[in-house]
Amino acid sequence: MKYPLIFGLAIITAVIFAFLLSSTSSQTDAAPIENVHQAAATDTLPSGEYPFQKSDAEWKEILTSKEYRILRDRGTEIPYVNEFNGHKEEGIYVCAGCGQKLFSSKHKYESGSGWPSYWRPIADSLVGEREDNSYFMTRTEIVCSNCGGHLGHVFDDGPEPTGLRYCMNSAAMDFVPAEEVASYQK
Ligand code: FE
Repeated sequence: MKYPLIFGLAIITAVIFAFLLSSTSSQTDAAPIENVHQAAATDTLPSGEYPFQKSDAEWKEILTSKEYRILRDRGTEIPYVNEFNGHKEEGIYVCAGCGQKLFSSKHKYESGSGWPSYWRPIADSLVGEREDNSYFMTRTEIVCSNCGGHLGHVFDDGPEPTGLRYCMNSAAMDFVPAEEVASYQK
């Protein structure tokens, strides 16, 4: 019983911390974005499965520390105080690691979770799913199918017609506005 108690206290502390941040900060660009939790699993992303390959040193060179923590270290950013949670512009969201197109503003909705949420990817082939058993629960992790970067998780409490909620980390994605989508080459 010792560990569940410690885990529970850690979660409660994290939730209170996240709430205080979200309720007191109106400047999202100045808000600290740190891990609420990070995958306890020690397995690394499989290296041989994805078309877009980089060494760990190369990833560290091309990604910001925040992007690296989410995409390659399977981190999760704090809810509400992230770039795309309330973002409403028309356009597409692409992988911050390799640039692959992932989600469209057409499928984005306000889930209330504090993270950008979509009811489907642009195409199913653009994302991969992996079982995530961290934190005493089983969730379905969503990764970029091109580079294997961790994007977030998918849950089955989304809106129709899919009933899915793709709960993503803003830092794992870049935004391409609608007027630039036609010329976006990746
Ligand atoms: Fe990618």
